[in-house]
Amino acid sequence: MKPMLKKNVRVHGLGEFGLIDELRSVIGSARGSVVVGIGDDCAVLRGGHPDKYLLYTCDPVVEGVHYQGGAPPRQVGWKAMARNLSDIAAMGGVPLWAVVSIGLRRDTRTRWVKELYAGLRAAARKFGCQIVGGDTTHVKHEQFVVVALIGEVERSRMTLRSGSKVGDSILVTGKLGGSRRGKHLTFTPRINEARWLVSNFPVHAMIDLSDGLSSDLQRLVEASRPGTGFEIHAAEIPVARATRGSLTSALRDGEDFELLFTIDPRQVTALRQKWARKFALELTEIGRVVRSRTKVTIITTDGSRKRLLPTGYDHFATT
Ligand code: ADP
Ligand code: MG
Repeated sequence: MKPMLKKNVRVHGLGEFGLIDELRSVIGSARGSVVVGIGDDCAVLRGGHPDKYLLYTCDPVVEGVHYQGGAPPRQVGWKAMARNLSDIAAMGGVPLWAVVSIGLRRDTRTRWVKELYAGLRAAARKFGCQIVGGDTTHVKHEQFVVVALIGEVERSRMTLRSGSKVGDSILVTGKLGGSRRGKHLTFTPRINEARWLVSNFPVHAMIDLSDGLSSDLQRLVEASRPGTGFEIHAAEIPVARATRGSLTSALRDGEDFELLFTIDPRQVTALRQKWARKFALELTEIGRVVRSRTKVTIITTDGSRKRLLPTGYDHFATT
């Protein structure tokens, strides 16, 4: 028999990632046509194409959790689609088809729903994705939108969380933190940047930043070979202006939806030059992959070294 959820504890006692680990043992490991199951930004599946994999991802937005009730519905729709597109970007892929399930209160007006779909469609269309179906239910309390998305990636370009190598440079796109002050509803998923990256450079490992740099660094390093550590320079972290210079915000806030990736350090100069010609978006080298027992180390401006704990967003944490 498969192992079951250990004890009948409350889920906040496990935390979001503790719970997902438990679910992983309930579901069992990937078999047959499943190349990568639980543990990356998308599941990776063998479809019919000999040179490509399918990517499959699913992410909800819930009223009161991912958006406030008064938020513009067009932005809620945009966010619901863009979160999923961001996970396709993190694999180096292109999005193809989406299904959308919505839960609406009975008194919701049709104009709200039309606007929601205008946002969903705008995000999908911008990146060549079609909405092909979904499901509809009523809810008594909070509304929700769940998008599931299928994409594809050339096998040679697929980028997993697990590919970082000791010696790699660690880079991040954009500026981090402060997303709650507006950007979390209107961000651009980095599909174009990720496609360009994987088409022009051998990217070793990649993740999209959904839960805050400190937590997503932890996930990237945990997916790497045992004995791998990341060393990050505090002074290099690109802090968004909305945080008013708060490094803590940049490490913890989440919903940046930027790309975090590792690449051979000998590629970095060429990458920076080509990138600057192609994109206005910032690209910053924040550290190195090292051999270490400490997962993530942060080097402060005075040169002292501290273990960086994953203090980003956890759906079940009570603090
Ligand atoms: P992301 O933030 O990129 O969407 P997460 O880090 O939240 O992904 O999820 C980590 C992994 O856990 C993913 O591979 C995801 O598919 C899987 N996962 C999350 N929730 C569930 C669930 N309820 N059942 C099965 N797998 C899940
Ligand atoms: Mg992700």
